[in-house]
Amino acid sequence: SLKWTHGDPDYLPPEIDTSRPSIARVYDAFLGGKDNFAVDRAVAMEGMKHFPDNGEGARQNRAMLFRGVKFMAEQGVDQFLDIGSGLPTMDNTHSVAQRVNPDARVVYVDNDPIVLAHARAILQTNGNTRVITADMREPEKIFNHPEVEGFLDFSRPIGLLLVAVVHHLGDDEDPEGLVKTYKERLAPGSYMQLTHFCSCAPEVRALEAVLLTMLGTGRARDMPEITGFFDGLEPVEPGVVHVPEWRPERPVEYPLGLGGICIAGGVARKP
Ligand code: SAM
Repeated sequence: SLKWTHGDPDYLPPEIDTSRPSIARVYDAFLGGKDNFAVDRAVAMEGMKHFPDNGEGARQNRAMLFRGVKFMAEQGVDQFLDIGSGLPTMDNTHSVAQRVNPDARVVYVDNDPIVLAHARAILQTNGNTRVITADMREPEKIFNHPEVEGFLDFSRPIGLLLVAVVHHLGDDEDPEGLVKTYKERLAPGSYMQLTHFCSCAPEVRALEAVLLTMLGTGRARDMPEITGFFDGLEPVEPGVVHVPEWRPERPVEYPLGLGGICIAGGVARKP
């Protein structure tokens, strides 16, 4: 499944460091994917030891990501900026959006070079999809990136995805101010989908401790803080909720398991 290998299964691009865990690969390990290394699996296994959700939180988050993208595409949004997009897996933002509108454009942004390395295969076959390596903490570099400028039209509605990425920013990195910068750049009628690791249950703190120790990042924030990221936007029903509760396709089973409570988020529209 290593898509950059071009036939050589042992080849690794020099920018990929397999001696330290990476967020994208640890998330892939939680999802049960194959694009991760022993250091990454060690973090996921330790996490699941303290938070035995068997990867359900990651899967529920990913499922909500796709329900949100489908919703936005059905509202007529035909361009998406997916920041902290992660490794391509079984389904992806562009496939979901392009099932609704084959002409929908998607830019994937991630600061982990492994994402671009894997996504090259997508680039070759999909003219409406681009992938860049950039950091969400440098919004102007993203807006002015040659692959973004002229490809996304910021004078028209955009679907901005900040899904399971803002919790990788520390409090000292002004996550609220950064999200505000992105919201300000959006044209009226745009949408923002944001999900975030949530301290809604005490057990989450155990997983947070593992992530902070072994990965150096992954902060749970509480519901008012997560809701605050949407300030200035009109929430789409049902607002900011645990991800399984966001416009579910099947009835939600209560009580929500650990995987159901550890991530919260929503979708909101810029008036
Ligand atoms: N958005 C996908 C999803 O929800 O299924 C992937 C979420 S994954 C938990 C977080 C991703 O954000 C990782 O791929 C990681 O490399 C990326 N990331 C973390 N910090 C980032 C930053 N400062 N700028 C860009 N990407 C970042």
